[in-house]
This record gives sequence, structure tokens and C-alpha cells, in this order.
Amino acid sequence: MTPAFTVQGWCPGALRPMASGDGLVVRVRPTGGRLTRAQAAGVAQAAARHGNGLIDLSARGNVQLRGVTADSHPALIDDLRALGLIDPDILSETRRNILVTPFADAATDALAAALAAALADAPPLPGKFGFVIDTGPAPILTATAGDIRLERSTDGTLILRPDGLPTGAPVTTETAPAQAIALARWFTETGGVTDGRGRMAAHIARGHRPDTPLTAQPAPPQTPPGPGLVPQGALVALEFGQMTADTLTQLATLGDLRITPWRMVLIEGATTLPTLPGLILSPDDPLRRVEACTGAPGCLQALAKIRPLARRLAPQVPEGRRLHISGCAKGCAHPGPADLTLVATADGFDVIRHGTAQDAPSARALDATRIDLKGLF
Ligand code: SF4
Repeated sequence: MTPAFTVQGWCPGALRPMASGDGLVVRVRPTGGRLTRAQAAGVAQAAARHGNGLIDLSARGNVQLRGVTADSHPALIDDLRALGLIDPDILSETRRNILVTPFADAATDALAAALAAALADAPPLPGKFGFVIDTGPAPILTATAGDIRLERSTDGTLILRPDGLPTGAPVTTETAPAQAIALARWFTETGGVTDGRGRMAAHIARGHRPDTPLTAQPAPPQTPPGPGLVPQGALVALEFGQMTADTLTQLATLGDLRITPWRMVLIEGATTLPTLPGLILSPDDPLRRVEACTGAPGCLQALAKIRPLARRLAPQVPEGRRLHISGCAKGCAHPGPADLTLVATADGFDVIRHGTAQDAPSARALDATRIDLKGLF
């Protein structure tokens, strides 16, 4: 069946932005997921000057500036380049798909930099193919999409694990970058890429196995923390993963920032939680139980406004449950299953229980103004 939405198969970057309902979306990939205070302040200023002042956090720890125009894009790139946030060309930008744990220490940052340099020798990889450097005390990004993972084993040593397999190959900080590239090469040479697309877990599921012995067990994964104080600083969540340039300007005064893949920002070294508009500071906030995409009018494919409905329904979501509201069946905000998913269609909202936005609905075409979650969970 042909999907009723467009699958891009590539991710927007800064040099190759993506058109959306409110203009171009320009995605910036901070090195190691970290923005210094000066970079964060500069990004905020650039978002206000060249875009519509709205900034999203992506599920891969990047920041996206919205509402950029074809006319304002060149000057935006100049400003971001002056901040050290722009790759030399589109190929380098696309290839540098490395997610780093927000709780990185200096050794992890060095490993990320070495891997970024080694990517010059990588074969052409699908746009969504990504590396995950999850070398904090225990894996914390296991539930975050990725294809080649660097983690700690149960005895604290480094391992390289292809996504989709439970164990990995022992490596060292010196050998890890080259071995990660070798694993990427194995993936392409054994048929992991079709029509420019492909993911490691799907390749593994088709029965492919690397020749390297995968003898090391990763340490048990941890659940990412919610908003609050952590040993590394203050974690603050953003409503629907979006903030204004003003909020980013104020966050930049508080410390260097780590952009997490959990729609949260870590303010490094902060010992108090800042109270700013649009920030979620409590893990129990009902808005944290709802995933909601941009919707109309910000997304060209959206069939309804999404976030006002999400705000209205959030207090009805029971604790520990997850509601996903999607502007179309693509399900960008939450590709996996949720307890309850509402998908906008041309006729109203479809309801899917315990599935993804692309699964068969149990009810169809509900009127948004009348949706009540009582009895649906
Ligand atoms: S899921 Fe939402 S953001 Fe993604 S394409 Fe559909 S409407 Fe747009």
C-alpha cells in the first residue's frame, strides 16, 4: 500500500535544509551534542534574525531552526559558520551522524572527535544511518535509534556493538574509530543498503553477522532521567521539544548546554532549575506523557492542528501511559508504539491502541473537539 505521506529517506541539515509549512527547517548538529554558552547565544540570535525564532530539539540531539527563507538561509549559514557549527560540505554534514551521551566525560568527547575524523574513510551510508557513543557509566541511549554503538561492557571496557545484536566486540579508545568504520564498511559490502536506504538492525534481522567475534556483553541499560538535578547539572525538558530564541538566550547565560535526544537540555554545572516559559521541570508534568508532532500549519503534510489538542488531552493521560498525537500517519514524533495513538486524517482523528501511527485503527474519523480519553486507555 502506498503511504499517505512522503518518506524523505534523508535528514535535513544546515547546508541542505528541508521545506516545511513555516519555511525551511535548518538542522544544526553541534559537535558532541554540546553548545558552548557563546554558541547557544549565537544560535538563539541567528534563529531570531534569520528564522521565525522557534527552535526544535530533534530525537538525535540536534537543534532545528524553523521559519528560515531561501533569502535568509545564506546569511544564517554565515552566522552559524562563524560559531563553528557548519561542516565544510553537505557530504561531511550528512555523514557526521553521531549521537553522544549527554553525560559525556572528556574521554567520551575525545572518542566522538576521533570518530568524526575517521568518518572521512567511511563508505557512502544511508542518510539515517547513525553512530551512537554511549560510553557513560552504563548505556543510556539503548532505546534511541542508532546503527553502530560504542558502549561500556559489564567490566567497564569499551565495546563496539552492531544495533540488533545483544553483544559487541571488545575495542579500545585507539582502535574504536577504525573498527566502527570497518563495521560500517561490512554493512555496505554485505548488502545493507538498498536504493540508498538501510538500517543495521534490519540487516542483522535478515541473518547477516559480522566476522569479528562479538564476545562482550554491554552493561545493563539505564532509563534516561526526567527533568531535575543530576550530577552533571540541571536537566530541563521543553514542551513538545520546542523553545523560543528568548528561552535559548536565557539558558545560554546559565552554562554550556548538552542537547539530549530526549527533548531535554542539560545545563552543565547548574545547581538549580531555571523557571523560564515553556520549560518542564517536573518528571510528573502531564505534558511529558504526550508526544505531538509539529502538525498544521508548521508541517506541509499535516492534516490538522496537533499541539492545542495535545495540551487539552494531556491531563487525561494516566500516569505511566503514553499518548501520541500525529498530524499524519508518518508518526514523526514517536515512530514506535504508544498506549494510544491519535492520527489526523482528512475526515478526523483515527484511534490506534498499542500500535504505531501506521497501524490499523480501532476507531475512525473522531471529531477533534469531541475527543475524550475516558475509556480509551
Ligand atoms: S507526522 Fe506530523 S510532522 Fe511528521 S510529516 Fe506527519 S504531520 Fe508532519
